Amino acid sequence: MTYAFSPHAIPSIPVAGSDLRFPVHRIHCIGRNYADHAAEMGASVDRAQPMFFMKPADAIVIDDGDVPYPSMTQELHHEVEMTVALARGGRDIPVAHALEHVYAYGIGLDLTRRDLQSIAKKRGHPWDTAKGFDHSAPVSALRRVGDIGHPPGSARLTLDVNGERRQATELSQMIFSVAEIIHELSKFYELESGDLIFTGTPAGVALLQHGDRFHAELEGVATLSGRIL
Ligand code: MN
Repeated sequence: MTYAFSPHAIPSIPVAGSDLRFPVHRIHCIGRNYADHAAEMGASVDRAQPMFFMKPADAIVIDDGDVPYPSMTQELHHEVEMTVALARGGRDIPVAHALEHVYAYGIGLDLTRRDLQSIAKKRGHPWDTAKGFDHSAPVSALRRVGDIGHPPGSARLTLDVNGERRQATELSQMIFSVAEIIHELSKFYELESGDLIFTGTPAGVALLQHGDRFHAELEGVATLSGRIL
């Protein structure tokens, strides 16, 4: 078998404390997973119906990278989120066994063209151009569960832009836990090793401008820095 042209490289994320890279298969994201963020967006939270969307795997930007300001928006927003990297897939994964599928944790920004998302919501259109654009997923290196365990609910998640605090919460504020997210996602998709999950953002989402420098931390797990070009 011969490809018609060279296939793209598999996007991958460094695994901290090793020479390994995590090969990204898909990027799943959950919306409205912190009550204070849902409220600031004027949305309600439905425990019965979690809201998922995707970004392409090659939307990742590795830690300390430059993020080109995207086309077709005047309203680029940051959303800081814990990331969860899966070592094993499956369908209909029970909550009680879901954490056994986790390989590693990290932190990322779910960059959003908020103006396009607002229009899409009004018109009942899909969110793809608002969420799944090129370079829309800056991510930290991953820390393996085998090295650090699972982050506690008390772990702080923060984002600073140009040295000013923009977003802060602790993981206990998540509406769907990591295990519940994996369980719910696995009803819609057969999850696979290499899937990366963005677990939702707290309140404080706001504008990013040309030249802004961001620094995100998930206490005890990871840091992420970068710049908007
Ligand atoms: Mn998000």
